[in-house]
Amino acid sequence: MKIKNVTHDKNRISFNIKDVDVPMLNALRRTVVSEIPVMAIESITYTTNTSIMGDELLSHRIGLVPLKTDQKMFNNIADCTCKGKGCGKCTVKLTLKADGPKTVYSGELTPADGETSPVFDTIPLIKLTQSQHLDFEATAQLGIGKDHAKWQAGVAAYEEKDDGSYDVFIESYGQLPLKNLIESAFNTFQSKIEQLKEELK
Ligand SMILES: [Zn+2]
Repeated sequence: MKIKNVTHDKNRISFNIKDVDVPMLNALRRTVVSEIPVMAIESITYTTNTSIMGDELLSHRIGLVPLKTDQKMFNNIADCTCKGKGCGKCTVKLTLKADGPKTVYSGELTPADGETSPVFDTIPLIKLTQSQHLDFEATAQLGIGKDHAKWQAGVAAYEEKDDGSYDVFIESYGQLPLKNLIESAFNTFQSKIEQLKEELK
């Protein structure tokens, strides 16, 4: 396997790779897109929502806001000691309170742990007019892109070149640093291979 022409910035990397099988590249691509656990808002309890948008639609919109994720801080809720009820080891609360007239942005979501904050502060969530108010508590948990797009950690693609090599592109959506995303993809891929080996035994 030969890797060359590596270029990267904070969230993206591209490189050319030779002497590698397509199924392996495709497994890497699928792992990045659908198997890396990141935090996203799963439920919202509204104290007040007099905006033009109903609770369900607004919750869907807020759920898509990417959140900075420390994978070591949280258990997968299904595997947690709370047995899926939700506790401080597998969930984090985020609150928001706003009074119109104003545009409410993602940066106004305040995480209780001070860490699981939005990747971008400038995503508009809702526009409130005079006399409209918003007050809610949201609960975020780990999940994977295979279950819902809001938990997608990034994107990966590859293109075959004429000389039998492949150009590969990987981008993190920002929940995880690019290095952690790639490490997590290889670790996840490796553990799936180990799991398959055990099942074959
Ligand atoms: Zn728990």
